[in-house]
Amino acid sequence: MNSSFRQDRRRARRAQEPRTRAPEREELLAEVDCGGRMVEVMVRRQPRAKRIVLRLPQGCPRAVVSVPPGVALSEGLAFARSRADWIARRLDERGEVVPFAHGMRIPYRGEEHVIMHVPGRRGTVWREEVAGVRRLCVAGDEAHLPRRLTDWLKRQARRELLKSCRKYAAAMGTRFSRLSVRDQKSRWGSCSSKGSLSFSWRVILAPDFVLDYLAAHEVAHLEEMNHSPRFWRLVDAHCPHWKEAERWLKKHGAGLHLIGAS
Ligand SMILES: [Zn+2]
Repeated sequence: MNSSFRQDRRRARRAQEPRTRAPEREELLAEVDCGGRMVEVMVRRQPRAKRIVLRLPQGCPRAVVSVPPGVALSEGLAFARSRADWIARRLDERGEVVPFAHGMRIPYRGEEHVIMHVPGRRGTVWREEVAGVRRLCVAGDEAHLPRRLTDWLKRQARRELLKSCRKYAAAMGTRFSRLSVRDQKSRWGSCSSKGSLSFSWRVILAPDFVLDYLAAHEVAHLEEMNHSPRFWRLVDAHCPHWKEAERWLKKHGAGLHLIGAS
């Protein structure tokens, strides 16, 4: 499949351009909603470009639009917007992993955070918000950043899951023996016949109501080891937002598995 779009320009328009003009803005960064996913679009003026070109550079989650001289950057952005479906499809096909590295943007509890490497401090991880930008800061040697951040996210996942699972176990009058958080990709959670619950640590990337539903789902399996109408009635009685959470997972779940993968 073609990986770029071109738009022909009318020659006449170009001929009408005055020879001298105020310097044009050179670039513009914006976000475009591509099938529910916000994609950064960088619009750049390209002195040698003959037409508007939209590209998705390999290894980069951002779309780049080149516009020729005399064409407004906003026109380049409008072009990207008109191709939002194509951008979404291409990004899905590529299924690119988002590694844990300085400057990468990842969701944490459903909100976008920028990963910041903070050198020269003891190896800890913390969350902060500076000028409206949420950050996940990772101190210590940069080589250990992916592992440190993964370990930290696993701990947060376990803490939040324990809270939700205890709440639902009490409400449903049941109990679990242990709760573990793993790097599982096939399922978000599972429940053993011995009453131990297991979850993917990536649930911490999803919004809280999704993590909460996944906890309710597995705890309900302690009572009903199947997906029978009785099981769903139990889930529905205690976790009325389950449908919304299922819809969210259907739309965004696969993408979460690409985050922090190596
Ligand atoms: Zn289930």
